[in-house]
Amino acid sequence: MRLDEVFGAFGTSPRGLSSQEADARRERYGPNELPQPRRKGLWRRFAAQFTDLFALVLLAASALTFLAYGLQDPRDVGNLQLAFAILGVVVLNAVIGFFQEYSAERTSQTLQAMVPHTSRVLRDGERLELPSGALVPGDLVVLEAGDAVSADCRVVEAHSLSVNNAPLTGESAAVGRVSDPTGTTTALESRNCVFMGTTVVAGSGKAVVHATGAATEFGRIFRLTDQAPQQRTPLQREVAVMARRVAALAVAIGAGMFALRLQTGQPLVSAFVFALGVMVALVPEGLPATLSVSLAIGVRRMARRQALVKRLLAVEALGSTTVICTDKTGTLTQAEMTVTQVWSEGAWHAVSGVGYAPVGEVADAQAVRDLLRTAVLCTDARLVPPSDAESWRVLGDTTEGALLVAAAKAGLDPAAEKDAAPRIGEFPFDPVRKLMSTVHRTAEGDVLCVKGAPQELLARCTHLRANEVEQPLTGELRKSVADANDTMAGRGLRVLGVAVRPVDAVPGSMEQAESGLTFLGLLGMLDPPRPEVSEAVRACRRAGIRIVMLTGDHPLTAEAIARRVGIVTGPSPTVVTGSRLNAMNAAALDALLAADGQLLLCRVSPEHKMRVVAALQERGEVVAVTGDGANDAPALKHADIGVSMGAGGTDVAREASVMVLLDDSFASITAAVELGRSVYRNIRKFLAYLFSHNIAELAPILAAAFAGFPLVPLTAVQILAIDLGSDVLPALALGAEPPEADTMERPPRSRRERLFSAELVRRFLFLGAVMSLGVCAVFFWQVHRSGIPYADFTADDPAYRKAITLTQAAIVVGQFFNALAVRTDRQSIFAAGLFSNPRLIAAGCFGIGLMAAISYAPPLQEVFHTAPLALADWAVLTAFGVLLLAAEEARKWWVRRTPATIEKAAVEKEKEATP
Ligand code: ATP
Repeated sequence: MRLDEVFGAFGTSPRGLSSQEADARRERYGPNELPQPRRKGLWRRFAAQFTDLFALVLLAASALTFLAYGLQDPRDVGNLQLAFAILGVVVLNAVIGFFQEYSAERTSQTLQAMVPHTSRVLRDGERLELPSGALVPGDLVVLEAGDAVSADCRVVEAHSLSVNNAPLTGESAAVGRVSDPTGTTTALESRNCVFMGTTVVAGSGKAVVHATGAATEFGRIFRLTDQAPQQRTPLQREVAVMARRVAALAVAIGAGMFALRLQTGQPLVSAFVFALGVMVALVPEGLPATLSVSLAIGVRRMARRQALVKRLLAVEALGSTTVICTDKTGTLTQAEMTVTQVWSEGAWHAVSGVGYAPVGEVADAQAVRDLLRTAVLCTDARLVPPSDAESWRVLGDTTEGALLVAAAKAGLDPAAEKDAAPRIGEFPFDPVRKLMSTVHRTAEGDVLCVKGAPQELLARCTHLRANEVEQPLTGELRKSVADANDTMAGRGLRVLGVAVRPVDAVPGSMEQAESGLTFLGLLGMLDPPRPEVSEAVRACRRAGIRIVMLTGDHPLTAEAIARRVGIVTGPSPTVVTGSRLNAMNAAALDALLAADGQLLLCRVSPEHKMRVVAALQERGEVVAVTGDGANDAPALKHADIGVSMGAGGTDVAREASVMVLLDDSFASITAAVELGRSVYRNIRKFLAYLFSHNIAELAPILAAAFAGFPLVPLTAVQILAIDLGSDVLPALALGAEPPEADTMERPPRSRRERLFSAELVRRFLFLGAVMSLGVCAVFFWQVHRSGIPYADFTADDPAYRKAITLTQAAIVVGQFFNALAVRTDRQSIFAAGLFSNPRLIAAGCFGIGLMAAISYAPPLQEVFHTAPLALADWAVLTAFGVLLLAAEEARKWWVRRTPATIEKAAVEKEKEATP
């Protein structure tokens, strides 16, 4: 089909559809979306909760208890109650797990929906940026390197256009696309079609949409059924393995106890119930669910701080990030370019005005009009006049937008200039050669316009033109260009050079085109640093995270910006250019990265980025790297945390990354690191909390057994009430603790450090021991107070009922104080604010309320065999709680005094380095 036939067939034109027609087609064809994948039924997902290991162990325990009840003569109603209680616990646990999983899934879906998917479209001859879902058949889309193709299209214009069709064909090599008719019959094979789900690797072009949504090849081939489940992160796997070990240990100890009891002549059923208590006490029932919830909370908080995490894995890696490799434009700076200076041989021309409003003047504009006209022709961006809510803005590359604004300030009309000299060919910008060229038809003949990095451009120029006088580019002239470039770069300006050459036709190759050029001049653009970055850089320094700047820009520009945001503080940072990197072998690169100090890598291409990331990882660093271009994908994929831009980047980069910054700002990476660190710390907090109470449950049981007390000081039903009644909510609240004040004051966690560190184990052993002491004390105090000899105690004895009530209440009250104690690792809880996590206080109060109900409400007394506690009892329990908190405060004080001093000294040193 010829091009006019293509436009005819789809009822469109080179100006695109009219907006009315687009609306009508949207009504007819529906949104450009694939049908939602079918998810597992809710019931199946609920049922899956019962196949969890803990659930199975508890189900087996419940079944055995039913059996024990059935075999017993006379039957003990208590055992029937116990069997039902365990069953109830399994169901409750499943319900909690189900809702938590559901909410985690919803979170991830919401986040996915927040990742922007837009397409550039021509409608009514205007270039618009629309959500990809709004595309309709007949739309004329504009394609550029890095774009995801969002519908099936017939290419109508192609400039070195190539796409990666791997998602459809599995073939990952880039394939060229043309606009000419091809003879093939199947759509997938035609070289003039591009497809939904594929990406533009290089070049640019335009294409007419011929199929959207489910009608596309992608929609047809892929029957998206069950979504691939999120893979478990190393942390989740570690916790799962640990939980399994603890469960096995619980069963083993339970079995041991059972045998021991039988041997000492206990009846079978009571020995079994005892062993069951031990086992249940040790199984950390709520653990896996609490873990997923706290990861999900971290992800949600990060989203609120403008960092979208696409995979849970990133949350952990963020916490241990040691190096952030950041680019400059847009991440450290605002990417709000304003040309402030124009240089052409022998003269500087100041440009007034800020932002994208074409309000301002170019000094002696006449002399640089030719330069600015050439620059304008060589742009794809469009300046959009203000609408109600927004001021002037740029569609497309902001660097190019700034050129349009400068031209307008010089009295040119960019749109009219482009109409007067239509583009007949182009060699799109690529970050390796750092140039872009376009060919135009003018009244004076065809002309090639080139713009790009001054050094690269100058190397391809043979002449220089200023004030309409053309002269050979002598060494002296070259030096004057380089000096002007350095002057602007030294002020932190981004500099672009412009050149031209008359041509007879569109040159056959890029090399041929970009040679023998005539240099016209330089444009210096101001791109102010983002105000929030300096603080974020300081935070990274205190947190022991190194920042390496990788930029395509000039070393002087890079250094000026790096100084302004505080990445460079000393007199002489190490500045290495891409060409020097090329000359380095692996050992030299390693030595460069090993050296302490501030490192700026300039004039680098995406390949260099990839090499540096890999070399840093070789050194054992955990690397976060930012990237926005199509060629950044390998580095983003290779890094521990690939960070892409939500506002300015390409679809390809967003696809390859695990984190998308909605606001593109470096400060959001720092915020995410802080949250990543706090998620990890929170997980340790609730582990310390959960395991210390397991010890406090087990200790009185063992103590009573060793003391020869014939009954259990804590029954299995009571243990279940603690584990699932009063313990779950505080654990969840701990998982949601906000970051501690010192989160970014300590060096990154080592990648080799396990979750179950010696420190964690020491901590819960300490807390568990203190709590056990209190629990055993109140139980035996009550037993002794009754004056009844051990052997005469029976299960219905009021003194025994009171004693076990005290044991349970001691654990519940102890846990309340324990939760407060574990909230901070080293800081005093009073400094952090005793009530600064209201959820935790509420959760603790709920637990105590539940305990009070178990103690005072007659129906619950029946189930739990409990007795009412006196006010004095509560007072004693509270005193033990306060003691626990005091012991922890003493430990924290000690920790703050001793090993921290070494770390503090390091932090102080860093602080000194910061001006
Ligand atoms: P960073 O990596 O910090 O974002 P950067 O934006 O300067 O830096 P690139 O986009 O790779 O990196 O650009 C590299 C160089 O290419 C720039 O310094 C500039 O000189 C030149 N350049 C950038 N955009 C264009 C463009 N649209 N047309 C021509 N040359 C460009």
